[in-house]
Amino acid sequence: MSIDEAIMPTSDSATSTHLSFCRVCHASCPMEVDVTLGRVTAVRGVADDPLFAGYTCIKGRQIPEQMSHPARIRQSLRRRADGTFEEVSSADALDGIAAELRRIIDTYGPRAVASYTGTGGYQNSVAVPAARAFHDGIKSSSFYTSVTIDQPAKSVAPFRTGIWEAGYHNFRDADVLIAVGYNPMVSSYGPVGGLQGTDPFVKLREAKARGMKLIVIDPRRTELASRADIHLAVKPGEDPTLLAGLINIILDEGLFDHEFCDQWVSDLDALGKSVAPFTTDYVAQRCDVPADQIIAAARMFAAGTKGTCGTGTGPNMAPHPSLTEHLGIVLNTICGRVNREGDLLESGLFLYPETPKRAQVIAPRSAVTGAPARFRNLRGYRGEMPTATLSEEIITPGEGRVRALIVSGGNPVVAWPDQELTIRAMNDLELLVVVDHRMSATAEFADYVIAPTLALERADVPHLMDRWFAAPYTNYTDAILERDGDVLNEWEVFWELSQRLGSTLPFPGGDAPTDTRPTDHDIIELAYANSRMPISEVRNNRRKIHPEKAMVVTAADPSCTAKFTMAPDDIVEELAVVRNESDGADALGIDGTRFPFRLVSRRLKHRLNSLGNELSVLAAKGSTNPAYMNPSDMAAYDIADGDLIEITSPRASVHAVVESAPDVRTGVISMAHSWGGSSLTDEKVRDIGTPTSRLVSVDQGFDPLTGMVVQSAIPVAIKLLEKLNA
Ligand code: SF4
Repeated sequence: MSIDEAIMPTSDSATSTHLSFCRVCHASCPMEVDVTLGRVTAVRGVADDPLFAGYTCIKGRQIPEQMSHPARIRQSLRRRADGTFEEVSSADALDGIAAELRRIIDTYGPRAVASYTGTGGYQNSVAVPAARAFHDGIKSSSFYTSVTIDQPAKSVAPFRTGIWEAGYHNFRDADVLIAVGYNPMVSSYGPVGGLQGTDPFVKLREAKARGMKLIVIDPRRTELASRADIHLAVKPGEDPTLLAGLINIILDEGLFDHEFCDQWVSDLDALGKSVAPFTTDYVAQRCDVPADQIIAAARMFAAGTKGTCGTGTGPNMAPHPSLTEHLGIVLNTICGRVNREGDLLESGLFLYPETPKRAQVIAPRSAVTGAPARFRNLRGYRGEMPTATLSEEIITPGEGRVRALIVSGGNPVVAWPDQELTIRAMNDLELLVVVDHRMSATAEFADYVIAPTLALERADVPHLMDRWFAAPYTNYTDAILERDGDVLNEWEVFWELSQRLGSTLPFPGGDAPTDTRPTDHDIIELAYANSRMPISEVRNNRRKIHPEKAMVVTAADPSCTAKFTMAPDDIVEELAVVRNESDGADALGIDGTRFPFRLVSRRLKHRLNSLGNELSVLAAKGSTNPAYMNPSDMAAYDIADGDLIEITSPRASVHAVVESAPDVRTGVISMAHSWGGSSLTDEKVRDIGTPTSRLVSVDQGFDPLTGMVVQSAIPVAIKLLEKLNA
């Protein structure tokens, strides 16, 4: 392993300062890292970074404690016959795991071996490519990640409409923006063309100063919504209704881009017919949003010249997620919000092979062409299988049953939909391997726990943000620290297993070497082969904007005849279904009156899914995921701050601690997901929270295209359980 040289002398000779970037979440904020006697003593933002300008968040600033935390797993663990764990070397653990994998492959076939990479794994630029390569090497299609239970609609919806090869408008010169259920001030996430998590407060202030109009669609007055010109506080689950209503107004008033639609849209009339039933009065009543605000929002968006509509995680977890995503694309398309010939793309797309960026449409096609799942007529898409079926793939006998699972940087027991089903699945496996630095709720069920490197112990590139950076920006980090313990980078787990199984580890740049041990950098080069900027060049261009390398949109191929399809048959059918529903709860086949509240998902500034409760500063911000409620709803139920309630859905119940929140609309409970532990009865809810995933069913109201489960806008009822000050 090569350790980055100190780049900044300090007055304290025992301390050196290094440049790196945070990998707690995907935003990849640059950091200065102080190291004293091999330990991180401080981190801070890089003030002169040309894109982030010193921005970091509270989660990233806890890296020193995360690295040196006494409870960090630094040595692999193996379950004994009596159920307890014993420490073993990583080599011994991998020997045992490989022997079990060999037995399972020989007995059931390669599909019986599955892996799941969670949000934590996604922060490592080679974790997902290595897991994918492992599956290719052993010829198992059972490759799963958190993307398919998070925002899968984003991966498949553009293929159904057709894709504008040069992409939709950039944020940097937007004069209008619609943000549907995202809040980068807290999540650090924004869709392409939306406000990103790179210094979001300043970036939004600058955009507003240049005159950008902001429309936010969200049942909660979020940090972003409080800065909006128009905030449509929609009822949870009604995003598709509201978006269809906005489209209807724009078409009806002739506010769309006629010239663009004439040239590039094949079925504007059919679109108009399909959204016509979504009259403003109907939409206003159903969404509980004033009609004049809906009209004003439609006109404001259409009056802009640049800027997009984009969605976040919440709408992608609510009923009809692929339809919601589709309608966002429709809004952008009919208003002609695409990059035109001569425009510059915002991001440099440096880490992926260069593809043409012509001002033309790539014809619609299905993205859902992967291996068939065994449930609900679902299939794989974009090289992955749908995680919402994985518990059933494990527990259901028959050809193709999954018997071994490798979890990398994820916590299925609190994150996968239907917690009770997930726990059954974890108990049913013949082999469960968890790669995690803490004893998570899922690790409790493992046969082996592999101790991984943490971010500052490995090299990386900002592989997710490369598509979203608001400038053609590159960064790279070497490892800053020597490894603390017998820990492995995620790619090493799969490389070691491949070695023992005699399988290959094929990356885009070729097979990983087997005769010599590759370095982190070698694997990054293999995983990001043929990138627009060679990785060796990226490595020499850290924290740099390359205005001269911005991608320029070129003219359409004169022979291009492809057009967008805005109203394909299945979308027309789904719009009719939505129009006939009385409420989003209908999508679940549920009598909404018995479940008068809607539970919506949210982010918290001090947590990223299940990560953070072990860190003292973050834990001090709150040890539970409160059920945020409007004070008037609390008064109606005689509930005060800190009281314990039971939240019941048609599937199950959770306990939660109530906190008043005037920013949440009435009838809504707003909770962060992926908290809690493995107990189904929440005895420790005040200490560790509770997983809202327990409340949902995998086979009710799922998205027929992706299998996405309804995990937000969940119909629930509440009951007071315990007064805090009884
Ligand atoms: S926003 Fe994400 S990458 Fe940036 S400091 Fe916070 S956790 Fe780290």
